[in-house]
Amino acid sequence: MTDPVYRRVVIKLSGEYLAGQQGVGIDQPTVDRVADDLIAARHLGAEVAVVIGGGNIVRGVEVSSRGVSRPTGDTMGMLATMMNCLALEAAIERKGTPARTLSAFVMPEISELFTRAAAHKYLAEGRIVLLGGGTGNPFFTTDTTAVLRAAEIGAEAVLKATNVDGVYSADPKKDPTAKRFDRLTHSQAMEGGYKVMDATAFALARETSLPIIVFSIAEPGSIGAILRGSGHGTIVAG
Ligand code: UDP
Repeated sequence: MTDPVYRRVVIKLSGEYLAGQQGVGIDQPTVDRVADDLIAARHLGAEVAVVIGGGNIVRGVEVSSRGVSRPTGDTMGMLATMMNCLALEAAIERKGTPARTLSAFVMPEISELFTRAAAHKYLAEGRIVLLGGGTGNPFFTTDTTAVLRAAEIGAEAVLKATNVDGVYSADPKKDPTAKRFDRLTHSQAMEGGYKVMDATAFALARETSLPIIVFSIAEPGSIGAILRGSGHGTIVAG
């Protein structure tokens, strides 16, 4: 077996993807399929940490437009990411691979607090580590969380799973003339204003020299393909 291209990665999954066709909530067949992909990636020999969004349950901006304050809405969103972590952790463990959820905030009955030491320990044990609760701060996103955690734990790349096979100049589902990029610098990604990730995430990745690989999760096995170097995605690197 050849070594994976990256020995330690943070994989960013949108919460929305876990909703499957239903659009909201947690679709169990989708969770099981994602769990299979993560386990296959782990079996390639890479250490795998995962940051999941919460958009399938709550997005802070949306609830704050309906009467709660933005920080409270964002806290609800961060709690939503914990629910997704627990769903994914259960699916991974049911399939026989050890996993561990670490939370950005103290909730001892539910999960251990994220520390770099805990993440290193569980990754070294071969567990898939799920990083819940975002950064623990309002006004940030789980894209930024993925880059932050990757930098903190010394990951070699962030694998950003999306619904399309890379970064495009416009939404390819709406604009047939949209151009796909094989490679961009962090600065180009920020200046282009491409919607695939927020500017804070790109800025932190540039600052920490972290490559981001944007690829489609729709094809089963696509995470493994990226790790084997045969995947199809856009590489955002300095
Ligand atoms: N969130 C936050 N701080 C963070 C990460 C997330 O406040 O560090 C909140 C924010 O309200 C966000 C929600 O959690 O809308 C869900 O995260 P995100 O929108 O990134 O999820 P995704 O779109 O990837 O499903």
